[in-house]
Amino acid sequence: MNSWEDNIRKVVPYIPGEQPKQSDIIKLNTNENPYPPAPGVRKAMENMDLNLFRLYPDSNATPLVNALAAYHKVNPDQVFVGVGSDDVLAMCFLTFFNSQKPILFPDITYSFYDVWADLYRIPYERPQLDINFHIRPEDYDRENGGVIFPNPNAPTGIYEALDVVEDIIEHNSDSIVIIDEAYIDFGGESALPLLNKYENVIITRTFSKSRSMAGMRIGYAIGSSKLIGYLNDVKQSYNSYTMNQASLVLGVEGVKDDAYFKETLNKIIDTRDSVKAELRSLGFTVTESRANFLFASHNTVTAKELFAALKEGGIYVRYFDKPRIHNYLRITVGTKEEMDQLLDSIKNYINYKND
Ligand SMILES: *Cc1c(COP(=O)(O)O)cnc(C)c1O
Repeated sequence: MNSWEDNIRKVVPYIPGEQPKQSDIIKLNTNENPYPPAPGVRKAMENMDLNLFRLYPDSNATPLVNALAAYHKVNPDQVFVGVGSDDVLAMCFLTFFNSQKPILFPDITYSFYDVWADLYRIPYERPQLDINFHIRPEDYDRENGGVIFPNPNAPTGIYEALDVVEDIIEHNSDSIVIIDEAYIDFGGESALPLLNKYENVIITRTFSKSRSMAGMRIGYAIGSSKLIGYLNDVKQSYNSYTMNQASLVLGVEGVKDDAYFKETLNKIIDTRDSVKAELRSLGFTVTESRANFLFASHNTVTAKELFAALKEGGIYVRYFDKPRIHNYLRITVGTKEEMDQLLDSIKNYINYKND
């Protein structure tokens, strides 16, 4: 090896779910929303003033920040936006996790957290979820350099009640606690009201799942004006123009039309709950997911072979070859029709195996 190799930051990257090119597949592997974004998004796209593209965008993302502040009834100085919540979370790791003490997150969780920790050389520990995949709040009652967990958790879909979340916050007044609410719109109470009580809490959200805009890359954080100020300082020292002009315009439209938003959410929740019951009747153990995906393990067919068989038949789901969850599939909730085809394919495979 050449000696310059020693000076290179070497990382093991996060591996996103596949984005296959064929259009005839059923894509249930990356928790995208099967329904279109709010109708105003298309209209704004059609009326977009391309003169805006000639100029740099507003580095404070003011229109989008203001729209989100109004939507959540907080001050604009409590909102930070970024290129998907992955960008927001990466900025949070860089800004808030600067201790020699390890940060804490569950052993089974979003698989980007350990990647960012490694990238920024942040030490970390991963307390085990209990056998039902619930967080044990007492595990977070120890010295640490920060805490992060999603609620509902991924890829389990398990939701922790607000008193559990608050218990963790209460026992961590010397750290920043980040609650990743990527899936909260699909069920469960947000921790947003807790921001009135605690200055050391950050909540992150995304347009990628509930708002059907994964392709636009919009995410945000809400917290005390103090924490958001620190985030902005780091962002302005890194890349002033993270949000492009189109995302700023279309993001504002994406949070309008609450009636449409609730209608799509309810469709996904209804489909999720009926497919959960069907999977159970086919011999699956399925967690009580409060997200837009199901997490399921069959009593005879292994997750690995079922994943491969479904893929062969043009249905993509997600499989994680990791301890404790290697016999589970994470299945995004698609349209009713897509889920009917999934259930048919699963039934066929189980019958074929049992013959
Ligand atoms: C999908 C997801 C994100 C990232 O979403 P973006 O598309 O980057 O906004 C963050 N956290 C969790 C737990 C997710 O599942």
